[in-house]
Amino acid sequence: MNSNEKNYRILLYYKFVKIDNAEQFAAEHLEFCKNLGLKGRILVSEEGINGTVSGTVEQTDRYMDELRSNPLFEDIVFKIDEAGGHAFKKMFVRLKKELVTFRYDKPLDPNKLSGKRLSPKEFYEKLQQDDVIVLDGRNDYEYDIGHFRNAIRPDVEAFRDFPAWIRANLAEHKDKTILTYCTGGIRCEKLTGFMLQEGFKDVAQLEGGIVTYGKDPEVRGRLFDGKCYVFDERISVPINRTEEDVVVGKCYHCGKPSDRYINCADDYCHRQHICCEECEEEHRGYCSAKCEEADLARMEA
Ligand SMILES: [Zn+2]
Ligand SMILES: [Zn+2]
Repeated sequence: MNSNEKNYRILLYYKFVKIDNAEQFAAEHLEFCKNLGLKGRILVSEEGINGTVSGTVEQTDRYMDELRSNPLFEDIVFKIDEAGGHAFKKMFVRLKKELVTFRYDKPLDPNKLSGKRLSPKEFYEKLQQDDVIVLDGRNDYEYDIGHFRNAIRPDVEAFRDFPAWIRANLAEHKDKTILTYCTGGIRCEKLTGFMLQEGFKDVAQLEGGIVTYGKDPEVRGRLFDGKCYVFDERISVPINRTEEDVVVGKCYHCGKPSDRYINCADDYCHRQHICCEECEEEHRGYCSAKCEEADLARMEA
C-alpha cells in the first residue's frame, strides 16, 4: 500500500460517566468492536470509558456514531489521527475498577471536582507566565522523548505513584498556579482533583491533552519540545508543527539525540529504552552487555 494513503484512523477518547452494569456493557462492547473489525484497547469501569482503537475510516465512523447514539456518550470527544493501517494487533475491552489507576484512598469524581480546563490557546498563554509551575502528568519515560518546555519531570514509572510523589515534592507550592497536562487529558482529570483535595489553590489542566494541543490550528504545538509518547504501535507522534521542532530524547547507549524507543532484544528483560540506529546495530538491540550474555547463554543451553 502507498504510505501516503491514509485510509485508517486512530481514535482516542474517554468519558467519566456512571455505567450501570459495566460488566455487561464491556462484554457487549467487545462483541460490537470485533464485529466492526476494530483493533485496540478499551477500558470500561463503573466510572466510564477510556479507549484507543484503530480501523478504516468507515469502521471508525460507524463506531463513533454508535457510541454517540448511547445517551451516556452523546457528547464524548474523539481525537482522530489519520493512519496508513491498524495501530494495534488485537481488540481488547477490559473491565477495570478505575479508568486510570491512582493510589489515593478517597474517591475522585472528575465530574464533581477537577482542575480548571484550559483550551490549547489558554494553556499556551499561561505557559509563558513566569509564576506558574508546569507539571507533566505522565510517566518519566513519556517525558523523556517530549514535553512542554520547562515542565517538571515527575520521577514516577506509573500513574498510581503520583500522590506520594506530589506530597514529597510539591507540597510547598500549594499557593502557586499549577498547570498539568497528559496525552489525551484523562489522567489530568484525576490528578487535578487529587491536588485540589490536597489543598492546592489554583490547578488547571490542558483540555484534550497534548494530542489536541498539537492539532490546534493557531497554537500548532508551540512550546512542546520533542514527540508525544503514545500507547500504540506508532510509539510516538509529532506535536510541534512549527520550525521549533527538536529532538529531546537521548540514546541510552551513546547519549546522542534520538527519540526511537525499542525494547531490549532479551525477552526476559524487554526493557524499553531510547536507542539510536547505530547503537541498535552495535548492541544488537540489547539494553546491556549483561542482557546479551544472558540471552546468548540461554540460546546455547
Ligand atoms: Zn546511540
Ligand atoms: Zn535488557
